Order: sequence, then structure tokens, then C-alpha cells
Amino acid sequence: MIMITACDRLLKTFNMRSTPPRQEILFLFLKKNYALSHGDIEKEIRSNLDRVTLYRTLKTFLDKGVIHKVLDDEGTLKYALCNEACSETGHHHDHVHFKCISCGQTNCLNIELPGIKLPKGYSVNEINVLIQGICERCSENSVR
Ligand SMILES: [Zn+2]
Ligand SMILES: [Zn+2]
Ligand SMILES: [Zn+2]
Repeated sequence: MIMITACDRLLKTFNMRSTPPRQEILFLFLKKNYALSHGDIEKEIRSNLDRVTLYRTLKTFLDKGVIHKVLDDEGTLKYALCNEACSETGHHHDHVHFKCISCGQTNCLNIELPGIKLPKGYSVNEINVLIQGICERCSENSVR
């Protein structure tokens, strides 16, 4: 299967052993191309993958720079695939996330954030920008 090969290759680039849960979870991210919550993943994945394995796999992916956290307006933590710039030494992207109020999907938008100057004494750890609106697909659908 082509997708599994792609997963294997991706795992190899990150120096990770290829295991069925890793393959399966990574496969989901590649297939869905929008941010997924724990619940989304649990719903999609075959039932014999337990919560602990899922939790651990996501943690490993986060640490290795495969996926990053996406904060949603509902307060649910979601995850999305990183770009090539990320590795276990750190994540390198302060991009914008877009939540569609029509389909409810959250996507990474590849637009760079304008430099934000903080007052003296403040330092940035993480930046989360969430824009809400109608996504490309939904606006196309409403025109037809
Ligand atoms: Zn990243
Ligand atoms: Zn949408
Ligand atoms: Zn993102």
C-alpha cells in the first residue's frame, strides 16, 4: 500500500521505528490533512489500539517534530502534521491556524506571522493564532 510506504519513509526520516500503531496514526494525519483531536483519532482507528498507546505515540510524534499542537476555540487539543523544518531539536513554525465555522475543521495555514514585539521583560514560548471563518472548500460548496 502506497500510504503505508509513505508512513514508513516518514518514520525513517525521523529515526523512528516503524510500528503498526505509529503507521496507523501517521496514516490518519496524512489522509485527513486537518487537525485531529484524541477523539477524532480514536474514532478512526481500529479498536484494539488502547488509549495509552495512542497517548504515547502522540507524545513521541510531538517530541520528534512530526506533529504539533493546535489549539482550538473549544479548548480541545488537536494535532497536525509539521513541515520539514521540525525535528527533535525543536519546532520551527509560528504559522496561523484556521478554524472553519461551517465544517468545524482546523487547518494549518502557511502564512508567516508578522513579528510581534513584546514589552520589555516578556519572552515568547509559544504563539497560537486561530482565525475563524469559512474555509476554501466550504465557500466553494456554497457558491454552487
Ligand atoms: Zn512542528
Ligand atoms: Zn469548511
Ligand atoms: Zn499548524
